[in-house]
Amino acid sequence: MPDEGKEVERRHELIIVGAGPAGLTAGLYAARGELDALLLESGLPGGQLLLTDLIDDYPGVEEVGGPELADRMLKHATKFGLEVETATVNAIKKLEDGDFRVTTDEGTVFRARAIVLTAGGTATKLGVPGEDEFAGKGVSYCALCDGAFFKGETIAVAGGGDAATEEGDFLTRFAEKVYMIHRRDEFRAQKIFQHRVFENPKMEVIWDTVVEEVLGDSGMERLRLKNVKTGDERFLDATGLFVFIGFRPNTGLMEDHVDHDEAGYFITDRDMRTSIPGLFVAGDVRSQMTRQITTAVGDATTAVITAEKYLKELAEPAHETAKT
Ligand code: NAP
Repeated sequence: MPDEGKEVERRHELIIVGAGPAGLTAGLYAARGELDALLLESGLPGGQLLLTDLIDDYPGVEEVGGPELADRMLKHATKFGLEVETATVNAIKKLEDGDFRVTTDEGTVFRARAIVLTAGGTATKLGVPGEDEFAGKGVSYCALCDGAFFKGETIAVAGGGDAATEEGDFLTRFAEKVYMIHRRDEFRAQKIFQHRVFENPKMEVIWDTVVEEVLGDSGMERLRLKNVKTGDERFLDATGLFVFIGFRPNTGLMEDHVDHDEAGYFITDRDMRTSIPGLFVAGDVRSQMTRQITTAVGDATTAVITAEKYLKELAEPAHETAKT
């Protein structure tokens, strides 16, 4: 038992933060490369995979459920000896001696020579009245988690990207009717997802429209909508609202400044180095054009290989000194 009030500090060569596809891939490569690596994850390993019903764009795996792929990735990484620990990282700071200090809600403090940050992000909220009040009582950000609660009901989906269209289509397994509410007159989603919406008889798109308010009593009952072109308002009876309007990267964990783009995503070079030596990133925290599982795992592979090179370079001067 540690002394009360005395900080427990643990040291590793490499700490990977987050166990989504990027983190689990980083973990696999780190363990397989026999690095002294630890992966920290606050919840269940899998990240966004746990929120995705069916994956049909992972090469070599024609169709797989998101949670199953997460489980397979975890097993694959731990097979190589990856150490995974449940801990909620709340801050990462680079110290003057070059180490990173990783603090957690649980109170354990870690030190590492290098970090691979794959902490993903959190769903963006609409920020309209009633959204928080009816969260869990109709308003949801996860189709896989909550879709089954809406069997035979009429629901709405806000957004027009890949997530909104893909998850909206998925929700028709349960709901009788799914209205897609999109603020423009065309989707930004990939064509394959758009086709699924247009061809699904249970789906109807309400273009040029935003949700202004979520209304109800003990649970959500209707939405107040506004046409952004005409200014007209209307009410839509719906017992559920699934919000898929984007994603905020969990980059706030870094206490030091890291070069980032306008949306806050960390900028890396092609080898996943950030502006802080020793900090490598992959997955949804990284500034990039695409956010696919395939790109996340590819970038995580590069991140670990670059981190390994960095660690070797750190070790070399000491080695040289020892020889003389
Ligand atoms: P996204 O591509 O950024 O789309 C967000 C959507 O929400 C856009 O249609 C946007 O409208 C709309 N929106 C944003 N703010 C809004 C607001 N305040 N009110 C109303 N609508 C708002 O986000 P995403 O769909 O979550 O996808 C994120 C990334 O994950 C993307 O790179 C995507 O390709 C990837 N992803 C891939 C898959 C897959 O391949 N299976 C599945 C899910 C996600 P505008 O179009 O008008 O900007």
